Amino acid sequence: MITSINPYNQEVISEVKELTKAELVEHIEIAHERFLSWRKTTFEERAALMQAAAADLNEHKEAYAKTISLEMGKPIKQAIAEVEKCAWVCEYYAENAPKHLAPKSIEADAVESYVSYEPLGVVLAVMPWNYPFWQVFRFAAPALMAGNIGILKHASNVMGSAQNIQKVFERAGFPKGCFTNLPIASAKVESIIKNPKVKAVTLTGSKPAGSAVASVAGSEIKKSVLELGGSNALVVFEDCNIEEAVKTAVQARFQNTGQSCIAGKRLLLHKNIAEEFTQKFVEEVRKLKSGDPADEETFIGVMAREDLAEELHEQLTKSVKQGAVILVGGKRDGAYFEPTVVTDVTPSMPIFKEETFGPVIGITTFKNEDEAVYLVNSSNFGLGVSIFTEDFEKAKKLITLFDDGAVFVNELVKSDPRLPFGGTKISGYGRELSEDGIKEFVNKKTVYFN
Ligand code: NDP
Repeated sequence: MITSINPYNQEVISEVKELTKAELVEHIEIAHERFLSWRKTTFEERAALMQAAAADLNEHKEAYAKTISLEMGKPIKQAIAEVEKCAWVCEYYAENAPKHLAPKSIEADAVESYVSYEPLGVVLAVMPWNYPFWQVFRFAAPALMAGNIGILKHASNVMGSAQNIQKVFERAGFPKGCFTNLPIASAKVESIIKNPKVKAVTLTGSKPAGSAVASVAGSEIKKSVLELGGSNALVVFEDCNIEEAVKTAVQARFQNTGQSCIAGKRLLLHKNIAEEFTQKFVEEVRKLKSGDPADEETFIGVMAREDLAEELHEQLTKSVKQGAVILVGGKRDGAYFEPTVVTDVTPSMPIFKEETFGPVIGITTFKNEDEAVYLVNSSNFGLGVSIFTEDFEKAKKLITLFDDGAVFVNELVKSDPRLPFGGTKISGYGRELSEDGIKEFVNKKTVYFN
């Protein structure tokens, strides 16, 4: 049995029976059979179903959000916003996939030559609990629109949400087998990737999980996309609008109770504004309302699991031993972790060099642009960076110097169906969303007429 536990009160929410090996193989067979007919459907047919999925998400957003909130402690308002965003990504790909995947004519010596973008077949998605709906939909919407089939191994603590996602596609009228939730433990993932009917895999999660999945995919010569952790920097220059930057930085770090790969985890402040910024930032953090995730007023819920809160506390304790100073917060109670601001953070401390997956932010100061770039790039992660400055010319010069997959100026790093999303270094490879995302799992077939 795979058990979902409410991290707010430790009550068991549901128990799902794990699939046997034989059942798993059967689901993959059904998925492959479905692919043989699904690949022949038109964009119009797929789009109509995808629009129906968007409508279902909007219609049942409160119910889906409630399960998300119960399973992983996300404040209910943020859970509803997550489901709404999933409807957006479905609509986006229903409208844009035909354009993204239109054959591309290329002049050569042929009478006619072009690239045709065709589906690969069954694609496995291994997904995490932090955005239990969004992470899956941003894979599933483009995959299905491209003519692929989706099979899902979701995180063990969000099995109710996993079932709900399958329900969305069923209610929308997708034929059986187009999208299947596979309730299994991670030990069974290897056999799925090795199944010849499975053509590719995408994973969002931690580095160890990504590394394990990509190793198997590599040994089988199968395509993989990895969206792993991040330790985004928020770089605040002295010429920024401090009030706006404070507000954005608080959102960047503390939404979703800090459990986001693209959260701003390292706050880098120019030494001339460090004191003023820190004081205003701490004031704002003190105002964040913690509480029951089911309460609409709550902004900070609980972390998704108690072990994750414990791990975060260890990272904090070790950093404090190395000289970091807690300005606010720092305590945990079960899965609840106080919104925490720490200063005097150096690159050798865990909260600088590791990913902190919860409501903790570390402050480091810098003297000039060169040092700011050095600090940003001294992380092994490379998902994104936010810089705060009113000088766009300076920003443009700096952008090319960062290693990351995204640079946002005067804005938090966020995902948007229209823009590519993904990282460098140990944050992973490949891109999700936009035209780049839908083209990850297609056969770019060269066609030549003589
Ligand atoms: P994991 O990376 O372990 O879990 C993500 C998904 O991968 C889950 O479906 C999990 O299944 C599966 N998985 C884990 N190990 C393997 C494996 N060896 N082979 C195949 N699949 C595997 O995340 P955790 O829940 O343990 O969180 C730990 C840390 O990971 C966080 O603190 C954070 O740093 C990072 N993380 C990053 C996320 C992101 O958005 N980039 C999201 C979530 C976590 P199961 O649940 O059954 O173990």
